[in-house]
Amino acid sequence: AAARAEPRSAAARPDPRSAAARPDPRSAAARAEPATERLAALVRETLADPLLSGRTVLGISVAVPGLVDSPAGVVTDAPNLRWSGFPLRDRLRALLDAAGLGALPLLVDNDANLGAVAEYRSGHLAHTPDLVYLTGEVGIGAGVLVNGRPLRGSRGFGGEIGHIPLARRPRCGCGRYGCLEALAGVQAIVRRTVPDLVPAGPVTGSLVATAVAATVERARAGDADVLHALSRAGGWLGRGVATVVNLLNPRAVLLGGYFVPLAPWLLPPCTAELDAHVIAPDRGGCQVAASTLGLTAAARGGAAALVDALDTGRLPLPPPLPPT
Ligand code: BGC
Ligand code: ZN
Repeated sequence: AAARAEPRSAAARPDPRSAAARPDPRSAAARAEPATERLAALVRETLADPLLSGRTVLGISVAVPGLVDSPAGVVTDAPNLRWSGFPLRDRLRALLDAAGLGALPLLVDNDANLGAVAEYRSGHLAHTPDLVYLTGEVGIGAGVLVNGRPLRGSRGFGGEIGHIPLARRPRCGCGRYGCLEALAGVQAIVRRTVPDLVPAGPVTGSLVATAVAATVERARAGDADVLHALSRAGGWLGRGVATVVNLLNPRAVLLGGYFVPLAPWLLPPCTAELDAHVIAPDRGGCQVAASTLGLTAAARGGAAALVDALDTGRLPLPPPLPPT
């Protein structure tokens, strides 16, 4: 009966792909524009920082928590920002142009893809050819390297592990139900571990860091509710990772971002689920570990990807520096 009821109740819900569930493009742009202005201001301030004097700035990389058409520089859909179809690279270029910085090469990519690049270059399992990097910031994304090369899929949107469906509830930031990140994302975790510290709406910005630190504190103190919530989230994470391991047989899966401080509690239930659900013996040789790059992975990967794009001619070199 349960099996029959499921498609019916799913059908009764509004179609998450319908216009009603997707952000209205005008309101999405209204959210994206001010953020892009802040980004441009940040670039201007950083370039004016005396720390950079005498240094060559090769360009700007932007790591986006969403689906990115990187060659076009367009954010196709960022569920937790509620942006869609936003031409981030062109808008940022226009703003930088107005500040006389329009010639700087700009690269826009998905945060998890860039995190994987950083792991491959400088993580503690660097040069592991088949590696999956999982972001654990607000959402969950995967950067997948196969034989050292990113696996992006036909339109560049591969690796959306955060939205694989695992259950019937709760609602995810993408509008669908039961996605991995709605069950095991950092936002979902802190809602259960520190409900007294987080508001009802989205948990973003510095509040995420505060809520994670409080979670760690309560877990260390042995708070039973917190330990239970972490164990459940770790179990869901393990189910999601088991799907990836069964599909790709990676050598390593690295948990990044805020999953790092939570790893002592997330990893044991996660690996228990892997052992239960991965068909290959010995998890197919896959090591699951916390990243050593913490919150810096996407920035490091962004820098490396930018240099690669310049070296291979995918981005034009910046103009020569004016004489000093
Ligand atoms: C997005 C991914 C992103 C991840 C982490 C998910 O909700 O769909 O594209 O990589 O969050 O930011
Ligand atoms: Zn989702």
